[in-house]
Amino acid sequence: MAKTKYVYYFGDGDAEGDETMRPLLGGKGANLAQMAKAPLSLPVPSGFTISIDVCQEYYKLGKKYPAGLDAEVAKYLNRLEKSMGKKLGDEKDPLLVSVRSGAAESMPGMMDTILNLGLNDKSVLGLANKTNNPRFAWDAYRRFIQMFGNVAMGVDHDKFEAIIEEVKSHRGIKEDTELKTEELQEIVTKYKAMYKREKGEDFPQDPQKQLWGAIGAVFGSWMNPRAITYRKINNIDERVIKGTAVTVMAMVFGNMGDTSGTGVAFSRDPSTGENHFMAEYLINAQGEDVVAGIRTPQQITKAGSQKWAKENNISEAKRKSEYPSLEESMPEVYKQLVDVYKKLEAHYRDMQDMEFTIQGGKLWMLQTRNGKRTAPAAVKMAVDMVKEGLITKEMAVGRIEPKSLDQLLHPIFDPKAPKKVLTKGLAASPGAGCGRIVFSAEDAGEWKAKGEKVILVRIETSPEDVAGMDAAEGILTQRGGMTSHAAVVARGWGKCCVSGCSDIEIDYKKATLKIGNTVMKQGDWISLNGSTGEVMFGKVPTVEPSLAGDFGQIMKWADEIRQIDVRTNADSPKDAKVARKFGAQGIGLCRTEHMFFDGERIKHIREMILADDVEGREKALKKLLKFQTDDFTGIFEAMNGYPVTIRTLDPPLHEFVPNEPENQAIMAKEMKISVEKVKAKVDSLHEANPMLGHRGCRLGVTYPEITRMQATAIFTAACELTKKGLVVLPEVMIPLVGTVQELRNQKAIVKDVAETLIKKYKVEGKLHYKIGTMIEIPRAAITANQIATEAEFFSFGTNDLTQMTFGYSRDDIASFVPEYLNKKILKNDPFQVLDQEGVGQLVRWGVERGRSVRPDLKVGICGEHGGEPSSVKFCHRLGFDYVSCSPFRVPIARLAAAQAAIEHGSERAENLKLQNHTPIRAKASEIEE
Ligand code: PEP
Ligand code: MG
Repeated sequence: MAKTKYVYYFGDGDAEGDETMRPLLGGKGANLAQMAKAPLSLPVPSGFTISIDVCQEYYKLGKKYPAGLDAEVAKYLNRLEKSMGKKLGDEKDPLLVSVRSGAAESMPGMMDTILNLGLNDKSVLGLANKTNNPRFAWDAYRRFIQMFGNVAMGVDHDKFEAIIEEVKSHRGIKEDTELKTEELQEIVTKYKAMYKREKGEDFPQDPQKQLWGAIGAVFGSWMNPRAITYRKINNIDERVIKGTAVTVMAMVFGNMGDTSGTGVAFSRDPSTGENHFMAEYLINAQGEDVVAGIRTPQQITKAGSQKWAKENNISEAKRKSEYPSLEESMPEVYKQLVDVYKKLEAHYRDMQDMEFTIQGGKLWMLQTRNGKRTAPAAVKMAVDMVKEGLITKEMAVGRIEPKSLDQLLHPIFDPKAPKKVLTKGLAASPGAGCGRIVFSAEDAGEWKAKGEKVILVRIETSPEDVAGMDAAEGILTQRGGMTSHAAVVARGWGKCCVSGCSDIEIDYKKATLKIGNTVMKQGDWISLNGSTGEVMFGKVPTVEPSLAGDFGQIMKWADEIRQIDVRTNADSPKDAKVARKFGAQGIGLCRTEHMFFDGERIKHIREMILADDVEGREKALKKLLKFQTDDFTGIFEAMNGYPVTIRTLDPPLHEFVPNEPENQAIMAKEMKISVEKVKAKVDSLHEANPMLGHRGCRLGVTYPEITRMQATAIFTAACELTKKGLVVLPEVMIPLVGTVQELRNQKAIVKDVAETLIKKYKVEGKLHYKIGTMIEIPRAAITANQIATEAEFFSFGTNDLTQMTFGYSRDDIASFVPEYLNKKILKNDPFQVLDQEGVGQLVRWGVERGRSVRPDLKVGICGEHGGEPSSVKFCHRLGFDYVSCSPFRVPIARLAAAQAAIEHGSERAENLKLQNHTPIRAKASEIEE
C-alpha cells in the first residue's frame, strides 16, 4: 500500500497543492499553494501544510500523531530551511516560522496561530545581530513567549499583560511602541520567570519542542469552545468540515521599522458590495496588532483615508502626517498590492479577503480567501460581476445564501445603533420590531388604534390573539417552537416574532415582564430582532429595505433558471397582494379558519359550534357564508390567472370558543343563552390530545354542512369572477386525510356544490377546478396510491407529517429540542428543516405511489419547510411541481429553487421520468413594482 502523504510544500514559485484541495489542506493551505505557483506566482513566503487528515487521525488516536508524520515534517522543514537559506533555532541567522490554523471553511479568528517560532535565548541574539535591529529581535521574542505560553501552554494572557504594564508604569511609558530594547529584555526575563512558576519548567529553548508544541496547539484549537460554538451557530457540518490543517511558513516581519507594515484588504467593500479596494494597515506592526485594536489602523487608498478622516473629524493635515494612506506612504508597494488583488479577484472570480505583510518595502501575501459579506453586499457584487463578465448568472444566483435574503426583505435594526440585549429566544420570524409592551391582544388593538406601536408579550398565543398580533409590531412569547401558532402566523405576515424565550417571566396580573434583573412594565419600550432572537431594552432604530435594483435582477435570473413554481401560504386578500409583490405564482395554502376570527365572524362560528342540531348550525353558517365569499373574491382577484389552494376547516373547534369565565359570560349574553350552557359546550369540546382529535376532515365528515358552506363560498366567488372575465383556478384541499374513504366523502360534497354552481352561473368549460388533499398523516403517505385515485393533487403538510412521524408535539418542543440539538441527537429542528432521512422518505414514497396511479398528479408542499432552502431543494429533486411558503419567504424559495436547478438538474429529470410526470409551470412571475 502506498504511504499516506501528510505534508504538502509550497514556495519557490511552485507548490504540491492547489485551490481544489481545500478539503485536505484547508482554505488557507490550498490558497497559499495556489498563490505560490503559476499562473498567479505571487510573493508568498515558503512553507508547508500538514493536512486535515492528520487532524482527524490526531483525535482518533487520542491526541497522538500518525506514524511517519515526524519524519515527513522533518523532511519538509529541511526543504524550507534550504529554500530560505536559514536554519530553525540557528544562533547566527535563525529561520523563524509561523504556525497557522485553517479549516476547509473559514472560521475567522476562532482557532489559533503562533508567530515568531524558533526564537530562544541564543537565536534572539543572532536575529538582533543579523537584522542590526535588537529592539525588533527582543520584541519578536517577547511576543513569541507570550503567544506560545498562552496558546500552546495555556498560561493566562492577563499574566503577560500584567508584566508589560508593570514595566511600563515603572519606567513611565504609555505605549508598547515606546518600549526600548532593555525594557523588552526585562520583560522577556520576567515572562520566563513567570512561565516557570506557572508551568513548573523552563520556557522551551529547543525549536523542535516549540514546533511540535505549536502544531499540537493548532490541532487542539479545532475543539476549543470558541470554535465549537462558531461551527454550531454557522451550521458547519463536522461530517463535511472535518478538522483544521496546520500551515508552517517562514516568517516575514511587518515590525522591522517604518518601511514595514501589515494589513488586511478586501477587493470590494464587504458591507456595501461597492467595487472599490478597501483595506487597513499598520506601519511597523505584526498581524495581532491590527486585530487587537491597540493602534488605529490606516486606510490603504487615499480616497478611503480621506473619507475615514472626515468621518472621524480629523483634519487633512493631521491625516497626512499621522495616518497617511499606503497609496501615499509607499506608492510602489501600493501599486503592487492593487495588481495582486486584481489578479486574485480575476482568478477566484469572487471578492477576496487578503492578509499581507510588508517587510523592508517588499510585499508578501500571507492569505487570501473569498471574503465574508453582508446580504446587500453579496447581491450587489454578484450582479456587478455578471455585468463585468467575471461570472455567469448561474454563478451569481448560486452565490447568494437564500436565507440571507431575510436581511433584505424586512426592516432591519440600524447596525450603527447601540443596543442592550436582555436575552435571546428562538428567531421565529425575521425582522425588526420595536414598540411598547402590552400583555393582551385587546390592549394591542386599543393601543394601536391610539396610534401607539406595540409589542405583544404573551406566555403563548392562540388563534384568539390574531387581531392583537396583527396590531403589534412584533410578538414575544415565552413558550412555543418554530411552528407554534405565534411563529407560523407571524411568518405569514412577515411580522417579527421571538418565541420560546424561556427565561422571561410574565406576570399578567401585575402587567410586568422580568428578564434577568430588568423588570419592565406595560408601556415600556422593547425591541425584538426576529432574525437573531435577540430581545433588547428600549427603542432601537430601524431602516427600511428595497426590493428593486440588484435584488430584482437576482430574482429575475432565479426565475429564468428554476424549474418549480413558488406559491404562498396566504389567508387574506391583503396577504395575497403582498405575496404577488414577492413573486408568488399562486396560493398553496389558504387556511380558511384564520378568516373566522375577525370582528363579527367569531360570533357566528361560535353560534355554529353551540348549535344543537343541523338546522342551528346551518343558520349560523349562512351568516359566515357572506364573509367567506367576500374573502375568496378578494383572494381570487389578487391571484388572477394563478391557482389558489383553499383548505377546508382544519383546527379543533375548541380553538374558537372562549375558555375564560368572563369571555364565556360575554358570549352567553351575545347569544342570549345561559352561561352554564356555554360552559358545558366548551367543556364538551375539551380533548386530551386535540391535535390528534376532532379536527381536519374529521370535522367535515361529522359536520358536512361546514364543508358545504365553504365549498359554496369558494365556487360562488369563483363563478362570479369567471363571469366577469377573470381566470380563477380554485383547488379545494381536504386536510388531515388518512384514508381514501375520508377524501371520497368530502370530495363528493365539494364536487356536488361546484357542479351545481358552475351550471347555475353557466360557466361550464370556463371555470376549471381541482379537488385534492393534504398529505400530513403517515398513513396517507403510505397509502398514497389509493388516495391518488381520488385526489387530483397532493400538498404535503410537513408540519403535521413531522409531528406525527417523530411523535413530537409541534407546540411543545421548546422543552427538549434545544437539548437534543446541543447533544447532537438532532442535527436540526425538524420543524424548520425537513428531515430528509425520515419524514422525507415518507414524502418520496407519497409522490412515487401517488404518481404511479395518476402520472399527472400535481404535487406541492405547504408546511413551513416550503420556504426553507434545503427542503426546497429536496422537493425539487423529488419532482415536485411547486413549493408554498409565507409571503416573505417567497423570494428565498425562488432563489433556493434556482440553486436546486443548477445543482440537481439531472436527479429531478430522472425522478420525473420514473414517475412518468410532465410538470406544467405557472406563467413566469415578476416582481410588481
Ligand atoms: C401542515 O401540517 O404542514 C400544514 C401546512 O397545516 P397546519 O400547519 O395548518 O396544520
Ligand atoms: Mg396540518
